[in-house]
Amino acid sequence: MADNRTFVVVGGGLAGAKTVEALREQGFDGAVELYGAEPHLPYERPPLSKGYLKTGEGLADAFVHSREWYLQHHVGLHLGTRVTELALLDHEIATDTGERVRYDRLLIATGSTPRQLHLPGAELEGVLYLRIIEDSDRLRAAFQPGRRVVFVGGGWIGLEAASAAVEAGCTVTVLEALEIPLVRVLGPKIAPVFADLHREKGVDLRTSVEVADLEGEHGQVRGVRLADGTTLAADTVVVGIGALPNIELAEFAGLRLDNGIVVDAQGCTSDPDVFAVGDVANHFLPFLDQHVRVEHWATALNQPAAVAAGMLGKDDVYDELPYFFTDQYDLGMEYIGYCGPDDEVVVRGDLASREFLAFWLRDDRVVAGMAVNTWDVIDDIKVVIRSRATVDRERLADPGVPLHELA
Ligand code: NAP
Repeated sequence: MADNRTFVVVGGGLAGAKTVEALREQGFDGAVELYGAEPHLPYERPPLSKGYLKTGEGLADAFVHSREWYLQHHVGLHLGTRVTELALLDHEIATDTGERVRYDRLLIATGSTPRQLHLPGAELEGVLYLRIIEDSDRLRAAFQPGRRVVFVGGGWIGLEAASAAVEAGCTVTVLEALEIPLVRVLGPKIAPVFADLHREKGVDLRTSVEVADLEGEHGQVRGVRLADGTTLAADTVVVGIGALPNIELAEFAGLRLDNGIVVDAQGCTSDPDVFAVGDVANHFLPFLDQHVRVEHWATALNQPAAVAAGMLGKDDVYDELPYFFTDQYDLGMEYIGYCGPDDEVVVRGDLASREFLAFWLRDDRVVAGMAVNTWDVIDDIKVVIRSRATVDRERLADPGVPLHELA
């Protein structure tokens, strides 16, 4: 190897693995050491709340690379190994196996962790979360016909997993603190599409509720008690109340934090030799002229190329608009852009039939768009957003007007 530097990657998820891949693709031939706390090869998480949760199949396709790939690309894989300290002044990391490793450049790709429910009874058997492969396996095993499953939180995890539980024949209740699930992301006009869908499929969706505690018997969860005194019987409780970025190592090391690890458009932290990527990184996005932290698969997939370039001292920056997708029952949705729940919405198509496009506008410009059961339009929506063109609302709502004409 011509380059005698060592790059250490902390975090064996999608973002860590894609950065390693990009480092090799961009010609780095020094040492690369990847540390991951999970025992598995790096994998993509969307199937865990979608296809794999429902069928138990397709996991092989979720792995980013085979074990052979890491061997062939001379990547040191340290799985099942937790990094316990970042010693920035010494350019060293420490692991729970007692190893200390010197780095020239360090990447933090530690992801996020489900927010825990801190209520009496939360420790009972049958109270489940969804983040890793084993969690998805536990949910699938619990989703048996006739079982009563109560979801605490009606966000993406709660709603995707609820659709899997309904399809498995469970009796499903979703408890959401907000007045409409997803309203913070989609706003009051579009969010009800998802609430209506779940209710039509038989979900007992209760909104603006506060969970008081979980009740158990012989250590097993048996019910959920609400603040108004109502008790709901449950064989399983699935908690999906948000995620928190895994910043502990960065915090202890003294890196600059603000809603995650603050990085520039190349992923560089407040230490010039330390980079961060994926869920944990609050990155500067030039197009938006602001920092954003995006806990979605597409960021973990696409941000690494620019971050690897940054680690190699090249000029590329990450400037992609946030993108995510969901599958619930027979509804498929893609979303691109960045908006607030109060931005104006224009709909093209029919909300009731759940086949439509929605556009969020600020200052007469499209800042985000969503396609529900409508395919191959996201790239056109992206062009409209990136053009920053002022749009005519009637033309935007008219399915006869090609989207590219609005850019
Ligand atoms: P989420 O999408 O942030 O939704 C959590 C929901 O639970 C929020 O509406 C939240 O309301 C509500 N909530 C919080 N505390 C509650 C309580 N005590 N009782 C009832 N409701 C409560 O988080 P998530 O569904 O847990 O997902 C975790 C992360 O994975 C998120 O970043 C999500 O974007 C990501 N993910 C993405 C996808 C996708 O892209 N398709 C799929 C799965 C997961 P408040 O906002 O008021 O707290």
